[in-house]
Amino acid sequence: MKSDIQIAQETKELPITEIASHVGLNQDDLELYGYDKAKINWKAIKKARQNKHLGKLILVTSISPTPAGEGKSTITIGLGDAINNQLHKKTMIALREPSMGPVFGLKGGATGGGMAQIIPMEDINLHFTGDMHALTAAIDTLAALVDNYIYQDNELNLDPDRILLKRGIDVNDRALRKITVGEGSKFNGIEHNSSFAITVANELMAILCLATDIDDLKARIGDILVGYTKEDKPVYVKELGFEGAIAALLSTALKPNLVQTLEHTPALVHGGPFANIAHGANSVMATNLALHLSDYTLTEAGFGSDLGGQKFMDFVSKHLDKTPDASVVVATVRALKYQSLKSTDDLDEENLDALRDGFKNLERHMNNMRSYNVPVIVLINRFTTDTDAELDLLKQLVEAQDIQAEIVNYHDAGSKGGIEAAQAVVDLADSGKAHLTSTYNEDDDVKTKIEKVARHIYHASNVEYSEKAEKQIKELETLRKDKLPVIIAKTQYSFSDDKKQLGAPTDFTLHVKGINLKNGAHFIVVTTGHVLDMPGLPKHPAALDIDVDNDGKISGLF
Ligand code: ADP
Repeated sequence: MKSDIQIAQETKELPITEIASHVGLNQDDLELYGYDKAKINWKAIKKARQNKHLGKLILVTSISPTPAGEGKSTITIGLGDAINNQLHKKTMIALREPSMGPVFGLKGGATGGGMAQIIPMEDINLHFTGDMHALTAAIDTLAALVDNYIYQDNELNLDPDRILLKRGIDVNDRALRKITVGEGSKFNGIEHNSSFAITVANELMAILCLATDIDDLKARIGDILVGYTKEDKPVYVKELGFEGAIAALLSTALKPNLVQTLEHTPALVHGGPFANIAHGANSVMATNLALHLSDYTLTEAGFGSDLGGQKFMDFVSKHLDKTPDASVVVATVRALKYQSLKSTDDLDEENLDALRDGFKNLERHMNNMRSYNVPVIVLINRFTTDTDAELDLLKQLVEAQDIQAEIVNYHDAGSKGGIEAAQAVVDLADSGKAHLTSTYNEDDDVKTKIEKVARHIYHASNVEYSEKAEKQIKELETLRKDKLPVIIAKTQYSFSDDKKQLGAPTDFTLHVKGINLKNGAHFIVVTTGHVLDMPGLPKHPAALDIDVDNDGKISGLF
């Protein structure tokens, strides 16, 4: 079979104006970025918001990721194509835009695969419409403005050793995790420790994904907690007056980007927080726009029900014009066998026992999603190595729990790879059975919120807090910010904070290492275990396989 990039490059895109016209947008509603990409302008966004129509929202999440691959984006895109082109229902897909750093690190992007992809894939995976670069510029401009404030008069007496802002870059660069700035003479600034996080992990990315217009964007930037004064007083961006300039840097990036699938379904690709260290969903602007413009919107929550799934249900949904009508859990035979075997060596061999044992991972993810009172369906992403006996067994295991399961083959067959499955998803979304509930109450304090997620979603028996975390919780209480929603940063590989505990572990302790207020995003990031907000590169980075020829044709991306 051809590689993802070959398939993508061989597909002739339709002009983006034609894609836009499928959902009632005309050229006046677009800011064109060449032939196949556009941003939707404010006039069109405002017009769509006045439209009372709201389509159904379908959320796609998955089992715990493994090196065997799950294909969540592939299924979201293939399912979108099937609802659009086989069932002929007006559909839009809303996805995150990939972070460039991991594209050069580990293989795997966010544009799907095989016959279920969004295009132009090289652009989307690299510079796209420049949103990531705008974010990086905004993050570093803010850091530079704060350092300059301290260098100049520093009227508020901001303590250079208690600045909470990180710098940002969209590159996996472990050497930037801890740095010293301002080294040398005073001419070079005030020396202090600093650090870089990958752009997508920065609070400004979360803000871009949650803001509903430029005023909201500006207000949220103004609310960012910069750090503390030497007298222990918090300092917010609005006290320094930088919010206007940073909002100006991000104002174009706030507009959703329109592209298309291989089968020409319209897709909004906008904003890209990771689900292990941030809230893991594309922008609220894009999902709301899709809900107003189409009858079925498909969106994806990163990683499994314990990360993107939980964050979408408990947090992101509250920002949307509509909560999910159905949720899809993507599973593969191979990844479930891996949950049992803990090795990729024999995944091509039929192994019903390993599948039966690994099923407990899927069982917990589907029950987690069901606990939100939104109807759930499992889509089994078929790989060529799966045997009929394995596929049948997996379907039976799911259905024994009163959840429908369908086997789909969108990767190889495009929208024709799962027409019945698409109908089942549509029926579920139309059933009116969704009545979203939350894991925690809004007015629970921070520890209660963490403990409810840990017990009900992760199945931990206990939560332990480091001394630092206890101190940070006290600070939150002093600031009266301890009732904000929690975004728990945790490994994606396990329900626990130890990436080696596969399957469905129980009776473990969740170790809370740190608590960070993201006051502009209006949430609290809770770090557990050993999660990093700046990834490194592996021994054989994907970059070694990427090339470009003299005609500008890129190869080896995926
Ligand atoms: P996720 O969203 O879960 O990270 P993706 O949809 O990005 O996963 O898929 C990861 C990779 O796995 C892609 O390169 C894709 O082509 C491949 N893949 C997905 N589904 C299949 C399948 N059924 N058969 C073969 N390869 C697949």
